[in-house]
Amino acid sequence: MKVISDASRILAALVLASALASPVNAIVVFEFNYLDAPGVGFNDFTQGADRRAGLSQAASYISGVLGPAYTATITLDVVGNQTNDTTLASASSNFNLPFPGNGFGSAGDVMLKILGGDAADPAPGVADGVVDWNFEDFSWEPLSDFQPGELDLISTATHEFTHALGFASDILQNGNSGFGDTPGNASAWSPFDEFVAFTDGSSIIDAGGVLDGAKWSAASIGGAGPAGLQFNGPNAVAAAGGPVYLYSPTTWLGGSSGSHLDTDFYQTGLGQIENMMNHEASVFEGLDIRQYTMIELGILKDIGYTQLVMMVPEPTSVLIVLAGISTCLGVRQRS
Ligand SMILES: [Zn+2]
Repeated sequence: MKVISDASRILAALVLASALASPVNAIVVFEFNYLDAPGVGFNDFTQGADRRAGLSQAASYISGVLGPAYTATITLDVVGNQTNDTTLASASSNFNLPFPGNGFGSAGDVMLKILGGDAADPAPGVADGVVDWNFEDFSWEPLSDFQPGELDLISTATHEFTHALGFASDILQNGNSGFGDTPGNASAWSPFDEFVAFTDGSSIIDAGGVLDGAKWSAASIGGAGPAGLQFNGPNAVAAAGGPVYLYSPTTWLGGSSGSHLDTDFYQTGLGQIENMMNHEASVFEGLDIRQYTMIELGILKDIGYTQLVMMVPEPTSVLIVLAGISTCLGVRQRS
């Protein structure tokens, strides 16, 4: 889920992402079932074609990142009837795998198919995930011809698809698992949850799948940056050059807490680069982030996409300009 930015955090950052990485040799194919009625949402008579093209462009970027090592056809059901006032869009994988045993094997259908091929589909013949868009409360630019007030559909679609890939925690607010197990008892969790960590970097859930309730209670609502949850996967930590912070505001925000990079920490105004997987759009209107940061590529590797193509943003193609300060993502991320 991605929510609209708080007005107080609207950034003056101008993000110029002149070129999406080319999806050469991409063989993970995304297919969309557009389920809106004729004239509605993605089947809008005027904008529908561009909206569908925007989703395809976001999918192509992800296919390119995954690279030629993976082969799968991912089918997503798409509707444009989201009406929650503050939610831009949402997407998720379906989960049809039976209980996989205690640990971190509770992967969604999307991830299972990308990592294991179409033969690994636990529910052949049905969609692997869902996408829901809010056209009611927001004005969207489906491609790149931005008008005042328009949000970036491609950026948000990339964000949402990334959740469907498995960039999401299964830990509920009370520390229970999705299988109903309580803290202190072993359960099955998502691959992402293996790396959800306490403020000292230690894992919240041990190798046997037992969640530490005290650590979770403290860090899940610990607040910004070092006060809250971390992601301790080795690739992500290496990319960040230190701790990676997950969004863990002092008031639990269902659907956002634990499953995003920390919007309260990764802000250009605080001297940090922003990320695709912050829980908020980085700009209130106009072109938004359309590429992963190295931290996000590290997270995707950590959760299982070990063969992905580490596409370092081109220094000349991605610039963040803020109050006269230019930060090159590529240079920063190699440091
Ligand atoms: Zn999100």
